[in-house]
Amino acid sequence: MLITDQCPSLKQAIPKVYPNVKHRLCMWHICNKFADKLGSNLAKTGILKQLNDIVWDDQLSVTAFESEWSSIMDQYDLQSHDWLKRMYNLREEWIPAFFGEMITSMIKCMSTSVVQTDELSTFSIKDLGLKAPQHTNFKVSYNKSDGSILCSCNRYVLHGTLCRHFFYVFRMFGIDEFPKKYVLTRWLKDVATQMNPNKRANRNKMLGGGYELNSMVRDIYGIVDVCVDQLVTNMEDLSLYKDKQEELKKDVETNTSVMPPMSNREVIASYYGVTSNEEITLKTPKGIRNK
Ligand SMILES: [Zn+2]
Repeated sequence: MLITDQCPSLKQAIPKVYPNVKHRLCMWHICNKFADKLGSNLAKTGILKQLNDIVWDDQLSVTAFESEWSSIMDQYDLQSHDWLKRMYNLREEWIPAFFGEMITSMIKCMSTSVVQTDELSTFSIKDLGLKAPQHTNFKVSYNKSDGSILCSCNRYVLHGTLCRHFFYVFRMFGIDEFPKKYVLTRWLKDVATQMNPNKRANRNKMLGGGYELNSMVRDIYGIVDVCVDQLVTNMEDLSLYKDKQEELKKDVETNTSVMPPMSNREVIASYYGVTSNEEITLKTPKGIRNK
């Protein structure tokens, strides 16, 4: 990561010269200009503290930052302040809320000790971004042989996304590629397409499915999703699971008669409970244009 002030030439040059490097603007330089840009009267009102509080808070979500910023702008009637507007438009380049855990790991994490055996390395990581003392020290264990990693903050277990402590350890081991085994299937674009929730909802509606049917269908998808998430780190087990699913699918296909997909006319008829009249009694008059 390269941090610079707002030099326009550097902004253009960095992605060309260092295409794989993240370029960020220096927060300190920008925050230092607040008082100057807002003027001395406004600077005495408490706005500087309000702005600094949201800018330096890396625990703030993107939406929370945007809503806080907007309420400060409203409070001081600064919606049309040119410089603040420009800084807001550049927010992804300097506000930690937008950096994500990967970048925050570089700024806020510090290893205080490491215990290494042949395969396992256990890091004690101090998180400088967290204020409550009981939430500042974490243990991250990394197993070199199978690439598995565990962190005591439990972010991955609870939310399914990697924490900054993982990224810190990845960097220690020179791992510069996002470990695919930690990308849960629920985050993949393809899975959303395969599941096609609209199609599923329509099918349930057509079958007159109430709560019970919806709930059972949801459970089935949930069971598959959980199994895939758990097995995704092991190709062999995943492949066995896929074979079992194929067998189940074959059983279902041989034991049930396959219904042809419904036509649009049948879908509409099932919604309204009536069938359309096959005989057309009203015809469009010839020679009439409606445009
Ligand atoms: Zn963690």
